[in-house]
This record gives sequence, C-alpha cells and structure tokens, in this order.
Amino acid sequence: MNAHDEHAVYESPAREAAGTNLLGLSRTALERYFEARGERPFRAVQVLKWIHQQRIARFAAMTNLSKDLRARLEAEASVTPPEIVAVHESVDGTIKWLVRVAPDNCVEMVFIPDTPRGTLCISSQVGCALNCTFCATARQGFNRNLGSAEIIGQLWLARSMLESSSERSRTITNIVLMGMGEPLLNFDNVVEALELMLDDNAHGFARRRVTLSTAGVVPKIDALRQRCPVSLAVSLHAPNDRLRDELVPLNKHYPIRDLLAACRRYVAGDPREKVTFEYVMLAGVNDSRQHALELAALLADVPSKVNLIPFNPFPSSGYRRSPEHVIDAFRDVLLSRGIMTITRKTRGGDIDAACGQLAGVVQPRSQRMRARRAGRLAPAGAERLQS
Ligand code: SAH
Repeated sequence: MNAHDEHAVYESPAREAAGTNLLGLSRTALERYFEARGERPFRAVQVLKWIHQQRIARFAAMTNLSKDLRARLEAEASVTPPEIVAVHESVDGTIKWLVRVAPDNCVEMVFIPDTPRGTLCISSQVGCALNCTFCATARQGFNRNLGSAEIIGQLWLARSMLESSSERSRTITNIVLMGMGEPLLNFDNVVEALELMLDDNAHGFARRRVTLSTAGVVPKIDALRQRCPVSLAVSLHAPNDRLRDELVPLNKHYPIRDLLAACRRYVAGDPREKVTFEYVMLAGVNDSRQHALELAALLADVPSKVNLIPFNPFPSSGYRRSPEHVIDAFRDVLLSRGIMTITRKTRGGDIDAACGQLAGVVQPRSQRMRARRAGRLAPAGAERLQS
C-alpha cells in the first residue's frame, strides 16, 4: 500500500452486532422474525425499506413503527454493517475498500466507474479455498464464509458512501460477485443477500444487472437457477480438462463437460440469456491459436459470451500476461467462429484492485495455508490492522 493512494482511514473499534442483525435478513426471514414476535408480517416491508432504501440503522428513526416496537427492536436487534478500514482510489477512478469482518480479517470490495455504468464488485468469503494457481486470493488461504449481513452490508456501505455525497455522486448500476471467495460454496448466505439485492422493497436491482461468478460448482449452479437466477459468469480459463485441472483444481471434481451441461440448463428456456465465460490470458499457457479453436468448438452449442481477462500480476505468481497482439488474435478466432467476445479492461491495477488481485487480510485456518503464507509479503492493509 502506498500512502498516497490512501483516501481516508476510518478508525473505529470492530463492532459486534447487538442482538439479531436485521441487515442480512431477506423479506421472508424478516416476516418470520416479526411473526415470531407477535407482529404483523407487513412490518417486514416497512423495516426493509428503512434499512435498505433509506439506509437507516437506528430503529428510533423508523417513524412508521409503533413506539413500543421501536423500543423493543432497539433492545433486541441491530442493523450492523461491517466496518470500512481503509479506502484506496486509483488514478482511473476505481475505488477499493478494505472491509473488516472480524478483528483480524478483512475482505475487499471494489467500485469500477465506467459511465454510464458503475459496477460494484463484492466478496463472498474471507479468502478462498479453491487454489486456482493464477489468483492472489488463493494465496491468502480460507478463513470462513461471510454471513448474509456481511455480503449485503458491502452494497449497503458502498451505496451510503457513493450515492449520498454530492461531491462524488456515483451510482451503482451493476453488481458482480467477483471479489474474494467462491460464492457457490457459501450458497445460503449468498442467496439471501441476492434476494435483498433484487427485492423491490430493498435494493431493487434487475436480475440481469447482478452477476454471480463461479469457478464451476456444478450442483449449485442448478440450485441457483431454482432459487435466484441472476446472471451467471463461469471462470473457465482453459479449453480442455488437462489444462483446467491444473489451473482450476475444482475441475477435477466437476469436469468441463458437466460444467457446460449445467450452463446450458441455466439458460435453457430464454433465448436472450447467455452465460459469460471468463478466460484469463496467461502467456504461453492457455493463449495459443489452438487453444482458441478448442474453446470455440467447446462453446459452439452453449449460449455464451467470452470475457478475456488480461492476467493481472501479483508477487511470485509465476505467470505473465499475454501480449496484446496475442489477446487480439485469440479474440479474433472466437469472433470469427461467431462467439461474442470482449477483452476486459484492466482497472484499478495501481491499487491492486484488478481481477485476481484482491487479497484482503485473511487469517487462514489450516496449518498448510499458514505455512504457505509465512513466506509471503504481508497483504495490503495488514499494517493498518496492526496499528
Ligand atoms: N471464485 C469465483 C469468484 C472470483 S471472480 C470465480 O472463480 O469465478 C474473480 C475473477 O477473476 C475470476 O474469473 C478469476 O478467475 C479471475 N482472476 C483471478 N485471478 C486473476 C488474475 N491474477 N488476473 C486476472 N484475472 C484473475
């Protein structure tokens, strides 16, 4: 972290939610919460609106609730978002926040302005257990799943910070679950947070403007379709199992054939739907013309678009980014086979906010991870937490 990218630092002690944290409860869960307390279920919608639309965290200010109910909620519940520890702003306008979710664990969240769009990238786990070889988050190890309040809390905080200040009025138009973690391995909490993103009484995002990215947890792709069919992105990165087994070890459990079958099921029935396939461009590893031809053949019968992601380097990754002309040639092969393909712009590289660079501050739980990390530089933001 360079001192000059630091925009502001919020100093406040880590907070513990007092009583039930209502921030992470979907409408159904809130209805159950009020019913269990002898209240009418419509209270849920009232409270949802206060929390998510007005971003009011104090029950005393929720004036359409009875005085008794307000007092009871003050005593028994809270609206507690996670805590922002540091903010970094890139020269290109990208903003990265370090979000504390436990005294010694932080995740990262990124806002990418691209007028008229503004995309918020949020995290779903503290660290990640998947060990994709080219991803900085994998090096951090895995600590735990985020709760639904910690996931929706990122959007809640970002909207509060971006949309309420007149100096920096920036609107979040799209949300991507492409931060730290594998969202489909934290299924229930992620779905509850997604429900709040989509609920008209909460954040009211259109389904297509919310994208969940997965390394390919096949059974959960089907479950997501049942529960909350937001846009699906799949981190493919290789056109055959031999190479994908190496880059994305999860492939050994769910090989490409099964993954693509789940993708076809995901979009079946709606001719406008497509799955986005992410493909990180690693020089000399997966970026040849032969790989492009193989990929085109693989995706020929899947409604798809491809996002080529120039590899974003991090210390001792062992990989290099493919040169621009190689990425262009790869894209042209796919385009010539009728596959919609774009190269993702690298944003926020100067503040380590680009794809695959999010590291947060993770205390890994296994010895193996601890040992692995002991050899590495302290992650961005670690010095803050020690102060
Ligand atoms: N676990 C989920 C969510 C993470 S999304 C998933 O795998 O999809 C983060 C995206 O950035 C994924 O497509 C990931 O493969 C990609 N990525 C990871 N490391 C990267 C790097 N160093 N450079 C570019 N993209 C990377």
